[in-house]
Amino acid sequence: MKATSERTGPGRLRLSRSAPTVIVVGGGDAGLAAALHLAAAGVRVRLVTEGGRAGYLPGVPDVILGRAPVSRLRVRLELPQIEVIAGRVREVRPTGVRIGGDWVPADAVVAAPGLMLARQRAGGEADRVLPCWDLPSSARAAGRLSAFERGTVAVVISSLPYRCPPAPFGLAMRLSRHLDERGRGVRVVLTTPEAHPLAALGPEPGTHLLEACARSGVEVRLGWTPDREALDSGRVVGEDREPLAADLVLLVPAHRASPLLAPLAGEGPLVPVDQQFQTRWAGLFVAGDAAATSYPRASGAAVASGTAAARGVLARLGLSERGEGGPPQLDCYVGHGGDIYSRLSVRYPQGPPPGGRPQVLIEGPSAALGAEFAEGFRGWLRARRSGTR
Ligand SMILES: Cc1cc2nc3c(=O)[nH]c(=O)nc-3n(C[C@H](O)[C@H](O)[C@H](O)COP(=O)(O)OP(=O)(O)OC[C@H]3O[C@@H](n4cnc5c(N)ncnc54)[C@H](O)[C@@H]3O)c2cc1C
Repeated sequence: MKATSERTGPGRLRLSRSAPTVIVVGGGDAGLAAALHLAAAGVRVRLVTEGGRAGYLPGVPDVILGRAPVSRLRVRLELPQIEVIAGRVREVRPTGVRIGGDWVPADAVVAAPGLMLARQRAGGEADRVLPCWDLPSSARAAGRLSAFERGTVAVVISSLPYRCPPAPFGLAMRLSRHLDERGRGVRVVLTTPEAHPLAALGPEPGTHLLEACARSGVEVRLGWTPDREALDSGRVVGEDREPLAADLVLLVPAHRASPLLAPLAGEGPLVPVDQQFQTRWAGLFVAGDAAATSYPRASGAAVASGTAAARGVLARLGLSERGEGGPPQLDCYVGHGGDIYSRLSVRYPQGPPPGGRPQVLIEGPSAALGAEFAEGFRGWLRARRSGTR
């Protein structure tokens, strides 16, 4: 479809009554960024997201530690310039989406459903192994952890990629401090399949995390991969079938593609896209954690990809020139316990990897960065309640 539009100034559009409709699936960082960019360009945006709500994933460790209820971190989207539809999308196509039994047509679609966590078959070691890398699963883990008095807790990273690479290290350190303060006789172990943590970002971030874990009394086991078949049935043993010596396992499960995107997924859970985040189905764009990029699965990358996908949609609809945004700016906060945080800021001054090398600035740990992390949540809330970033 060719939209009728009129330029009224640099970058500004006045749209005729036949303004095109774009459906955005998912109210996370990527979906919201895409929706706001499209709405600002005068496009009619319909944002479909489960329950009409968005969830604050950096709050997962707070939920596990019993410091925040999920209800505080999962909020209704109130966006004056965007029609928010509460619903679960069953199918996406370039020409629209299916919600329940209804087909909702559109001139283009941006799908940003994030990643899903691998499910385990019932049974296994349900009492010992607690998957916990989204809000609902972290609430279940919190209940079990609060009753845990003594023994070894392991934070186990199943496989790569997973959301926010430094976050499991932060969880382990906060856990160690939290249990220590409560006088529990608990040892905390973290396992990762990587030979050096966060290797894709160079050696320094991993060294920072290893040193911090050592100071916090967290023992890190590098290059440890749980056996995949056993994991599927809810058991955690090494590839050599050796059981992990832990009384409780907080599991960062394998991440999977949303079933919505299964026909488009490549090898692994990520969907191949071009530079505009368009998939091989012209008119269907995929942004955020779900899109195959060489950046970490982090909020800054999700926002940048949502904005780039929106630009791609506008160009496709003939509403703007094709243009590329720069590489994303990533800021990951790592809890060290007691409201002390460090920050890993990742920039790509030479362009995206593998051509451009990441530049990482490591700051803290400090209480000031802890205050910034808390302020980040307040900013996230404001954006979801007023549609401003
Ligand atoms: C523990 C943890 C800590 C983190 N800490 C940081 C940090 O410090 N810094 C940082 O930059 N990043 C951090 N991240 C990563 C960051 O939260 C993600 O990269 C970001 O949320 C990805 O955004 P997204 O929009 O792609 O997906 P999501 O945020 O997962 O949003 C997807 C949305 O789509 C909806 N949805 C899914 N399927 C459907 C469907 N079929 N129909 C309708 N709606 C659907 C979901 O309900 C959800 O609202 C952290 C992540 C975790 C798990």
